[in-house]
Amino acid sequence: MPRFAYVNGQYQPHQQAAVHIEDRGYQFADGVYEVVPVAQGRLVDEDLHLDRLERSLSELRIDMPMSRTCLKLVSAELMRRNRLTNGFLYMQVTRGVAPRDHKFPKHSIPALVMTTRQTKPPKQAAIEAGVGVIAIPDIRWRRRDIKSVSLLPNCLGKQQAFEAGAYEAWMIDDEGYVTEGTSTNAWIITKDKRLVTRPANHDILNGITRISLIRTAEDLGIVFEERPFTLEEAKEAKEAFITSSSNFVMPVVKIDETAIGNGRAGELTLQLRDGYETAVVRGESLAQLH
Ligand code: PLP
Repeated sequence: MPRFAYVNGQYQPHQQAAVHIEDRGYQFADGVYEVVPVAQGRLVDEDLHLDRLERSLSELRIDMPMSRTCLKLVSAELMRRNRLTNGFLYMQVTRGVAPRDHKFPKHSIPALVMTTRQTKPPKQAAIEAGVGVIAIPDIRWRRRDIKSVSLLPNCLGKQQAFEAGAYEAWMIDDEGYVTEGTSTNAWIITKDKRLVTRPANHDILNGITRISLIRTAEDLGIVFEERPFTLEEAKEAKEAFITSSSNFVMPVVKIDETAIGNGRAGELTLQLRDGYETAVVRGESLAQLH
């Protein structure tokens, strides 16, 4: 089946889709992106992703490439052409094409690219086995709340995790607190069953999964604390997990060489994952989980 990409007004065969060599996204990473999960042909939390896209763009003083309504129409059309049922919609907006110069061009038209990718949901056994993470220093800039395409430290960290046989790297700030994963938010559950994640300020990306999971936790009656936690606290936690649009809720069973809990996915973590899948991914009532 042919796969299409949307590039600045056109649906093009994915293989041939290309942007200009002087696009500022290519030259300066002067752009932002969103990854929106798709489940059963439906975009999950689409409006929250578009809210964050608008916010990231406004922080960088890049105009929206088109209205929110039009963005939704293009997303739906690309999904239809690609017959996307499960996977992701990727959208990227850059400041556009201009002769290379660090300062903003006087006139430029924001460039918009969208692609999709079909994926299979993970097997329950893989979720229950969980994943390992390693700890690395956080070497990023100080505006991690902006979902910028500038991801080099994140790529280096993910590669380091991969080479260490781990799934993700948790980045540690100068005070010893966990900021987040290279493409995920970081969470722990303390021995007294409190769910903890770092506040969303300039230090981390405010994950859309994070936002929706906090609501799910409240609905499930799980006690929630928004505060930073250290690597040492995480290693002694009852449970740990990561969240993102591509993982939803993924149990963490090992941090560096330390097993978390009994080395298997934690009970509350799995309850949160189920709750998230029911309420947010499938848009059903949480009542049956109580
Ligand atoms: N933190 C970082 C650094 C990320 O890159 C991502 C996702 O790409 C997340 C957290 C999770 O965000 P979301 O739940 O919106 O996918």
